[in-house]
Amino acid sequence: MKKFTLAPIALAIALSGCGASKTESTQQAAPAVEQAQTIATANPFFAKWGTPHEMPNFSAIKNEHYLPAFSAAIKEQQQEISAITANKEAPTFANTIEAIEFSGNLLDSVSSVFYNLTSAETNDDLKALAKEVSPLLSAHSDDISLNGDLFKRVATVHAQKDNLKLTIAQQKLLEDTYVGFVRSGAKLDESQKEKIRVLNAQLSKLTLQFGDNLLSETNSFEVVIADKSKLTGLSQSVIAAAAATAKARGHEGKWAFTTQRPSITPFLTYADDRQLRKELYLGYTNRANNNNEFDNKEILAKIASLRATRAKLMGYKSHAHFVLEDRVAKTPAAVYELLNKIWPTALAKAKVEVNDMQKLVDAEGGKFKIKAWDYPYYAEKIRKARYDIDEEQTRPYFALESTLQGVFKTAQKLYGITVKERTDLPTYHDDVRTFEIYEADGTYIGLFLTDHYVRAGKSGGAWMNSYRKQYNMNEVDATPIIVNVLNYPRPTATEPALLTFDQASTLFHEFGHALHGLLSDGKYRSQTGTATPRDFVEFPSQVMENWMLQPEVLAMFAKHYKTGEVIPQELVNKIQAASQFNQGFATTEYMAATLLDLNWHSLEDDKIRDTANFEKEALEQWGLIEEIDPRYRSTYFKHIFSGGYSAGYYSYIWSDVFGADAFAAFQENGLFDPKTAKAFRKNILSSGGSDDALTLYRQFRGKDAEITPLLKSRGLID
Ligand SMILES: [Zn+2]
Repeated sequence: MKKFTLAPIALAIALSGCGASKTESTQQAAPAVEQAQTIATANPFFAKWGTPHEMPNFSAIKNEHYLPAFSAAIKEQQQEISAITANKEAPTFANTIEAIEFSGNLLDSVSSVFYNLTSAETNDDLKALAKEVSPLLSAHSDDISLNGDLFKRVATVHAQKDNLKLTIAQQKLLEDTYVGFVRSGAKLDESQKEKIRVLNAQLSKLTLQFGDNLLSETNSFEVVIADKSKLTGLSQSVIAAAAATAKARGHEGKWAFTTQRPSITPFLTYADDRQLRKELYLGYTNRANNNNEFDNKEILAKIASLRATRAKLMGYKSHAHFVLEDRVAKTPAAVYELLNKIWPTALAKAKVEVNDMQKLVDAEGGKFKIKAWDYPYYAEKIRKARYDIDEEQTRPYFALESTLQGVFKTAQKLYGITVKERTDLPTYHDDVRTFEIYEADGTYIGLFLTDHYVRAGKSGGAWMNSYRKQYNMNEVDATPIIVNVLNYPRPTATEPALLTFDQASTLFHEFGHALHGLLSDGKYRSQTGTATPRDFVEFPSQVMENWMLQPEVLAMFAKHYKTGEVIPQELVNKIQAASQFNQGFATTEYMAATLLDLNWHSLEDDKIRDTANFEKEALEQWGLIEEIDPRYRSTYFKHIFSGGYSAGYYSYIWSDVFGADAFAAFQENGLFDPKTAKAFRKNILSSGGSDDALTLYRQFRGKDAEITPLLKSRGLID
């Protein structure tokens, strides 16, 4: 069941960055907080925090507190569930559905702190604890979702749903609770449940093996170069890194390149030696496809087959039908329909890009036809000739502090909120800053935490998460505590933290997620903030990125950190133009992977497919050109065969459609039009998952999202 799984919204934006010199520490725990702590019992999870805004009292939490807190929290929820099933009264919405929703408060509080810290500030002890806690939580979650007596009560209430006079949010809660049980297998008989358990065990083994094989293949492949003249085109830093890689792999005095991104990407982009580019490229695209012990072809075909079998058992046509049922898309047909609309335009643009590159090859007297391993190399040549833009030109205009103020000012102009920094709240690390967020009329909204700098113990990437979600139920009016975690380089002795254009954009993006959590205004915790379907949740953040590129917004914050000069318009124009470059390729390779994912998971029988043929036929059916491979081919498509994205890789472009269409509303009505902003806040940011996502979108926009704004924003059409 969705509501019992606890994981941060991992927002997969890979950021490069490395630790530089020390930054000044910002705050210490307040003395008042420490006093409150001495009164509390030994385990701080067992009492109210007693801190301002009920901020978790990080200074009091020790690693030894987690396990007892988890055990007690699980026991508490077990008792709450037992009380529901033991209730002699007939099942009602209040004594069953709401009672389930209100259960597990302590578990929510312990899990929030624990899982935030295991991603933002972990260590070996926490990692070991996570391994201990994980089976406890999954057994606990199974105990609830497979509790036959509990499901009977839920089903009884559900059967009366049309006569209960429920609000929309209540109807949604009832439906989601019921469907959550059904999707966990509550309706199956014992022999079917046993079959599901066996299938799940097989799948878990195979998906792990898929990942292990891929890791082995990724680590083992290398191109070792002994002749320095073969390195032309590469920068000194890339060459130095290749020398270090060679040394580490036992080829001292030579240069080695691997299929890891930081190694292969600069090589394919800049290395002049075409034969070596081909060698490395084919090494990458043939991972786990070499007919050796690490081959994934049979494994993934088996995974697809078992998933189809499981879906059938659960009463669905295919695995994709099962997965998509509780997403915005609802059906595979709806996803195919969207992809069908975008695919021809993206492919046509990609063909133009290939043609441009072929002309360049011909003009240079190349006498060969562009191949997939030539794409990054010639695309870069064209990019450089057309846009002549360098990251070092833009970084001085995007100091972290002024960019953060730009984010706050943008939100203030849109939603009227104000921000006040506090330096007296307990935090889990000196890097963390805390901000109180207020309405224009001074009403307190919630706490916003930032944790910006890269450090050991923090996972890579950028994400938003909550320490407490907003909710207003069972006589508790909880204000949200939201965090943005990023991995930016620290300031140095001579420079503040300066961001690349993409990093600055990510700051806007993540604050879009933060607003989703902060401006949430709902009753039920399982529906508030970012509790929306996966193919919808990225959209409020994607919208937010758009403001950053507007000249009037840049004028508010993008000032040279030394001179205070606003970023020149000419530079902005170049950035904007370059951002649309090569989008035919980027969209096509992404969509080709999406189509592979959907084809594999739309199988309606358990027949084991021949992977090579299946993939070839799928891509031929869509007319993919040979100069482009899918972003992931089947044997190394970890997202779908070993991650959580099966039948879900389309989600990125799906929410991008909403993002582009929503921003078009602001472009039509005014960048800071109060009416549009109010409608966006009310229907999207405040509503969370309290109603059907498409209905909420229609209420905001007055119509369904269209794809034209997306095609325009990517430069695929004029
Ligand atoms: Zn995101």
